Amino acid sequence: MNHKELAELIFPNVKSVEYYENMYPKRNLKEGAYVTRYAPSPTGYLHIGGLLNTVIERKVTKQTGGVFFLRIEDTDQKREIEGATTAMINSLKDFGVEFDEGMTDDNNWKGEYGPYKQSLRKEIYQAYAKSLIEQKMAYPCFCTADDLAEIREKQEAAKLRTGYYGVWAKCRDLGLDEMEKRIKAGVPYIIRLKSPGREDRKIKHHDVIKGNVDFPENDQDVVIIKSDGLPTYHFAHAVDDHLMGTNLVIRGDEWLSSIPLHLQLFQVLGFKAPKYAHIAPIMKNDNGGKRKLSKRKDPEAAASYYKEEGIPPEAVDEYLLNIANSNFEQWRRANKFASIDEFDFQLNKMGVSGALFDMVKLLDISKIVISKYDAQKVYDESIKWAEEFDKDLKKLLEKDKEYTLKVLGIERGNEKPRKDIAKWSDVRYNIEYMYDEEFLAKDIEYEFQKINDIDELKQIVKLYVEKYFDIDDDKQTWFDKMKDLAEEMGYAREVKLFKAEPEKYKAHVGDVSTVIRIALTGRTNTPDMHEIMQVLGKESVEKRLQRFIQKVK
Ligand code: GLU
Repeated sequence: MNHKELAELIFPNVKSVEYYENMYPKRNLKEGAYVTRYAPSPTGYLHIGGLLNTVIERKVTKQTGGVFFLRIEDTDQKREIEGATTAMINSLKDFGVEFDEGMTDDNNWKGEYGPYKQSLRKEIYQAYAKSLIEQKMAYPCFCTADDLAEIREKQEAAKLRTGYYGVWAKCRDLGLDEMEKRIKAGVPYIIRLKSPGREDRKIKHHDVIKGNVDFPENDQDVVIIKSDGLPTYHFAHAVDDHLMGTNLVIRGDEWLSSIPLHLQLFQVLGFKAPKYAHIAPIMKNDNGGKRKLSKRKDPEAAASYYKEEGIPPEAVDEYLLNIANSNFEQWRRANKFASIDEFDFQLNKMGVSGALFDMVKLLDISKIVISKYDAQKVYDESIKWAEEFDKDLKKLLEKDKEYTLKVLGIERGNEKPRKDIAKWSDVRYNIEYMYDEEFLAKDIEYEFQKINDIDELKQIVKLYVEKYFDIDDDKQTWFDKMKDLAEEMGYAREVKLFKAEPEKYKAHVGDVSTVIRIALTGRTNTPDMHEIMQVLGKESVEKRLQRFIQKVK
């Protein structure tokens, strides 16, 4: 028996490598265009790090006029969950991540390089494995789990590197006839690479993010086809990314140490290797140390968390770009209203070590993103969120749509829009006091600041309703009247007057207007009070102020 016959015995019914090379022709790309892929296993869980990966991949391909595709890596069939691919695609779509090619749901795909799901490509991997066997670069291995355990024990006892390599690779030199005999006898086997590498030699790799890195060559005879006939991740990576024309692999840096093996596989298979960019994981402060954001411990590790909280995907994407390129923030300051698509993202400016996740920062970004929305958009997005997560809020928003739009429109669309909403789950708190039915029905615990004498408080509010309040006042008149009110009650009409001679006044106009604000809304902090009064209307303002006078204690 020769190697060709051995290959034929193992894979009798597969097509030739040439067949697939012709079936998937080289892509016609313009100079500098990147073809990248997102290649998750179908667990149905989208980690924020995975989202970062896709946001970057999308950006890089868009910027270079390339192709971004989705490949499902399901060769580990135990992990498959029905519907998981569709769920993953939908979550990504929520964040604006869409693919040019690849799976479109659990079973269908678009694009000329499919199937884009590894379990459907079994014969393709086998064709390449067959060709490697023919060329004496792969072989069947009959070692059982016990054999492998024994090898490991011996290696450990002798304080040697563990693994299936060199003299330890028992089946490497088995002899063709012996192989044939065992196969024909039905002894189970897998296919291993016959590694041409040597541990005492180094390879140089230039990573787009990590820069130059050296590694010892791979000398392990790794498994390429498992006993179920499916490939291992490593082998499928090489075959797929070759046939699918990937020229830039962007992935988590847990794969960096596999580089010697991956480059070796590309070389042995006669493929041109892609460029690699290995992204550091997103980190979190924990007990004085740093650790990776964890699926198990941190709810914010899941992309679904942001949807549940009602943080707009746009804000999350923007935050991720912030993590990815430190010059993003500066760009944003100079281009306040530009779409993030206009930002010139640079893969090689990504940090070598992992960025710290900062929720406060994300929420700040989100506040700014939402502050740019008009009332209608805030309304629509809040309803969409409330529909799923807060039915009562939905009712409140829909009860009087016109009125709600006015409430949401307070301090919006101007130079310095309100920034009190970071997520849709904040909306209720920020608008509920504007509805008489809610507000007047509630027993309010007023919290006072500087002025807290009950009689004084009542008197300020009383004087305001009786003498100064007029719903038709424009903002300036309204404000002047607030000053008059302050003066009449013995407070400084300007803050600076108070600062110059504090002993002369009880406090200043700001403290007086805070009293009115509290009486009106129950809050010390609200958007512009004049606008609030305009939206509430005369009757509601009077009712609120009167109630305060009667009820405050
Ligand atoms: N399926 C691998 C994973 O789950 C993909 C790694 C890669 O992008 O090459 O991480």
